Amino acid sequence: MKQGLRVVIEGVVQGVGFRPFVYQLAKKYHVQGNVSNTGEGVVIDIEGSADDLDLFTAELRNNPPSLAKIDRITVHAQERKHFVRFDIIESIHHTKTTSISPDIAVCEACLSEMNDPHDRRYGYYLINCTDCGPRYSILERLPYDRAFTSMKSFKMCSRCQTEYDDPSNRRYHAQPISCHECGPVLCMVDPKLYPIIQGNTVIEQTAQYLKNGAIVAVKGIGGFHLLCDASNEEAVSTLRLRKKRPEKPFAVMFSDRDQLCKYVCVDDQERALLTSKERPIVLVKKSLNTDLASNISPHIDTVGAMLAYAPIHHLLFDLLSFPLVATSANRSDEPIIRNAQELHARLGEIVDAIVDFNRDIVNTADDSIVQIIQNRRITLRLGRGFSPYTVIHTTHTPLKILAVGGQQKNTIALAFGDKMILSPHIGDLHTIEGMEYFERTVDTFKRFYDFSPDVIVYDKHPSYATTQWAKNQGVSVIAVQHHYAHALACMAEFGLEEKVLAFCFDGTGYGDDGTIWGGEIFMADPIHCERIGHIRPFRLLGGEKAIKEPKRVALALLFDIYPLSEIRELELPLLQYFTSDEMTLYHAIWEKGLNSPLCSSIGRVFDAMGSFCDILHENGYEGECGRRLEEFYDPDFGESFVYTIQNGVIDLLPMVREIVRLAHSREYTRIATGFIHTLVTIMEEFTQLYPGLPIVLSGGVFQNKTLLSLCVKRLEAKGCKVYFQEQTPINDGGIALGQLYYGHHHTRRGK
Ligand code: ZN
Ligand code: ZN
Ligand code: FE
Repeated sequence: MKQGLRVVIEGVVQGVGFRPFVYQLAKKYHVQGNVSNTGEGVVIDIEGSADDLDLFTAELRNNPPSLAKIDRITVHAQERKHFVRFDIIESIHHTKTTSISPDIAVCEACLSEMNDPHDRRYGYYLINCTDCGPRYSILERLPYDRAFTSMKSFKMCSRCQTEYDDPSNRRYHAQPISCHECGPVLCMVDPKLYPIIQGNTVIEQTAQYLKNGAIVAVKGIGGFHLLCDASNEEAVSTLRLRKKRPEKPFAVMFSDRDQLCKYVCVDDQERALLTSKERPIVLVKKSLNTDLASNISPHIDTVGAMLAYAPIHHLLFDLLSFPLVATSANRSDEPIIRNAQELHARLGEIVDAIVDFNRDIVNTADDSIVQIIQNRRITLRLGRGFSPYTVIHTTHTPLKILAVGGQQKNTIALAFGDKMILSPHIGDLHTIEGMEYFERTVDTFKRFYDFSPDVIVYDKHPSYATTQWAKNQGVSVIAVQHHYAHALACMAEFGLEEKVLAFCFDGTGYGDDGTIWGGEIFMADPIHCERIGHIRPFRLLGGEKAIKEPKRVALALLFDIYPLSEIRELELPLLQYFTSDEMTLYHAIWEKGLNSPLCSSIGRVFDAMGSFCDILHENGYEGECGRRLEEFYDPDFGESFVYTIQNGVIDLLPMVREIVRLAHSREYTRIATGFIHTLVTIMEEFTQLYPGLPIVLSGGVFQNKTLLSLCVKRLEAKGCKVYFQEQTPINDGGIALGQLYYGHHHTRRGK
């Protein structure tokens, strides 16, 4: 006897070859019915014998298409409709809750066609199929159908159409497919947008430019890159000069694994990430005597590496013998650029030529950045390939919630039903462009999911751009303290609902008492948070300025210990960076607390250590002191410094006294090593005061590989269960997710 079933598959299941897979499966097990894409996901109505249906659903669960990411499969019986065959039917549009597939690197099958002179897509710069290619970046709205992507204006030629219609073809319903005959056209224009050339000769011309040391903007998947020869010191320094980016490391793109291994050292896990279909930037060690230009990542032994992922990258590398600097095309801290007009307007002075094609980037996504620490992945930037990222809850959210994130490394997140969705990296919001990109992303996600928030969650900082924005939306709002949100982000990723001991070591964030926080220890669950420990506050001389100038933080710590006259007698390198008058002035503002807010940030203490070790005194890039301090770390000098803890207040001044002595004799290795060990010893002490709780590590400071590794090792050795974010950003990019988790629990409680 035949039975009828409805199977609903949720997750990333559209644009990944799911329907043809189901079609083949139906043929294999002789079942009838149909499959369609709906706003929820993939829906199958199916009829057959009980045995065949069992086999069908078992294989569906156990062997789905490789790009699919299934969150849930629900199966229930329904009345028979007496189907006579199995069909793939057109998309049905109603509710929109399906997960959107991120963009996927070009697959091997497409690459070999692209390299085959007898294939009709030989040298085709936008080749893709059901297993690869753009998704999120070209999508206007759901469901994922060509008509709702930026390929909608390109009519398929008859040969592409035949492939598209044939369920046995690799390009069956691959929405963005095209070819030389029917697809977008590649062109090269000069920085003023005057056309230079069109078609495949653009690739040769671009290669020639790069060989000559030029800087070329090349359209990729989620935005434009600025490319130049990564082995050419002069080309890299030109790029630095023009981009006004003196030291901050650039990412490097390699043609393939062989080239990669000539320049950097990777272990198995790093290699697996580099070659994954998401193709993120992975922070890896440079080889000794590497031929990479030394100014790519000055003073540090790591570099952000990635492999070519768009077809156009592979075509370029066929003509080049060197790796390429591939940095997001933007002005510092502004969003990544997605069209030639913007490039001309904002970077016209920086680039020598622009390589473009007329398939629009609807949604931008920067390259993702990840790192392997203690055999686990940490995410420094969630972008192309990984985002939008979905976390599935065990419980339903009764309301639609939007979380608007922080001010730097902004992302947004939304919750509806049992889903929490985190957007790609948006970036810093202190520019008009940044705020425009933020609003555009909110609109995009509202459109994708027919979403209109009932509640908006925002950061307590009164002057974050998102704070005012949230309050202006005319819906109810909830504020969450920044560092609590960091802890919550980790809890959200792992679905933790129990009480945890959270160490939130961070840059700066607005604290509940109006001072600036960033070295906080909480006992927290998703509803409540108690601040049980923090770094004894010190003054940020000149407020924001102190964030740019580590020497000011070091000086403020000295003011906390010594009278000004004694400081003048100290023989510390950092003191050369102040004139005598400046010292007098800073001492006065320190004494009166003028424009010198109190702060407990460990990020800032790291900066002070950088200044004590004469690494950097002013104007570095964010996290530079911490990163360069790691270069001094030596496990053979593993003792902690002295500190005290009283009523949860951690006083580091005894440590600073020792450090002053060591800085006097230029013992920087001991300072760097001792400081990192001190932080871990403090954490151990708290775990003993609050035994048995799961440990959560969150905040930007934990991007420091040396610190995070040591922490995990020592805390696990003490029997602690240690959690830190792997799939979502451990820095401010995760704030929105934490806010969302808080909103989720609070609105549930209110019901
Ligand atoms: Zn492919
Ligand atoms: Zn075609
Ligand atoms: Fe933060």
